[in-house]
Amino acid sequence: MTWLDLPPDGLFGIDNLPYGVFSPSGDAPRVGVRVGEQVLDLAAALDDPVFARPSLNAFMTQGRTRWTQVRARVTELLTDGRHQRATAPHLHRLEDMRLHLPFEVADYVDFYASEHHATNLGRLFRPGGDPLTPNWKHLPIGYHGRAGTVVVSGTPVVRPRGQRKSPEAASPEFGPTRRLDIEAEVGFVVGTGSRQGEPVSVADFRERVFGVCLVNDWSARDLQAWEYVPLGPFLGKSFATSVSAWVVPLDALDAAWTSPPARDPEPLPYLADTGKQGLDLNLDVHLNGHLISSPPFASMYWTGAQMLAHMTANGASTRTGDLYASGTVSGPHADECGSLIELTAGGAKPLVLPDGSTRAFLEDGDEVTVNGTAPGPRGGRIGLGEVTGRIRPALGDANGRILPAGHES
Ligand code: CA
Repeated sequence: MTWLDLPPDGLFGIDNLPYGVFSPSGDAPRVGVRVGEQVLDLAAALDDPVFARPSLNAFMTQGRTRWTQVRARVTELLTDGRHQRATAPHLHRLEDMRLHLPFEVADYVDFYASEHHATNLGRLFRPGGDPLTPNWKHLPIGYHGRAGTVVVSGTPVVRPRGQRKSPEAASPEFGPTRRLDIEAEVGFVVGTGSRQGEPVSVADFRERVFGVCLVNDWSARDLQAWEYVPLGPFLGKSFATSVSAWVVPLDALDAAWTSPPARDPEPLPYLADTGKQGLDLNLDVHLNGHLISSPPFASMYWTGAQMLAHMTANGASTRTGDLYASGTVSGPHADECGSLIELTAGGAKPLVLPDGSTRAFLEDGDEVTVNGTAPGPRGGRIGLGEVTGRIRPALGDANGRILPAGHES
């Protein structure tokens, strides 16, 4: 129960309480907790300066015991009527607030943990060969991305330019991508880091990871196809990665744990796990307001705990604010794919939207929104928020020349 007036089936009730960074107009950004359509100013409500900062990092550094204490205290403030008078003045209407990147991204790693996605992409990028590479079922494949271009939901995405070469062309050309795509993913936010030389075990996941967010790993498929051999993704993905404004703490996801798919062959001992190590999160992908896909995170082959264990297995350190994303979430069915390249068979079968328009890849002005939910503790659902972005035209002219300021085409 709560003294707040919340809808009974709302996605941001008292069981959720995700963290973000907000600012009233003209004021400095600070940490808040979302409840319903409001945000609680934690620095004011808890009288704690660790929340009067423009990121969650200082709070996350304090560790799991403290995260659990703060969540319990916030729950108490919002449920016990004795706190209503003191707490209510620190609640602000979300619609009046600006939302910021919730944490300072330290390092960014992106995995490739969906067997369905990896199989679909393997068929498109390497036709005729085995869709899964020989290493795929032995380790969670990943690459290091660009932390500095992670942006908060709502930030426009400028169509990237780069080298692209069609298979029939003799040489590459330079220009705006013609195959701009999305990748609907789930991101894990590292709360407490680990020292160099000290691998994090699968069992340490809950001690280290603060929570999850939604991720859209924007991808330029033509740039990617030309550049990715042999070192993997580079400029086709580093121009922008969008994350949701709310980080849902692991403490809110107790009802969401589920068994991952059976692994065959058994992973090596450092990746071994048992029981409910996967997360039953449901994503929805919307293009210009139309639902185009519903990827199920429960179908992911590798779990967040295995990804963390693998990315530190060599002794690599982690830091507060590290973001590692799951890779595109795609389920076994045609309407469960988390990228356009899968939904349109590499562009060969464009989507037909309800307004009659067709899309193989994204056009300028298109808006993509990924939202998600998880099972809540009392049979309901909690919201993961949304990650949205609209495509802006590429800079410069069609040949890739950057024009002087004020002369954009
Ligand atoms: Ca990705």
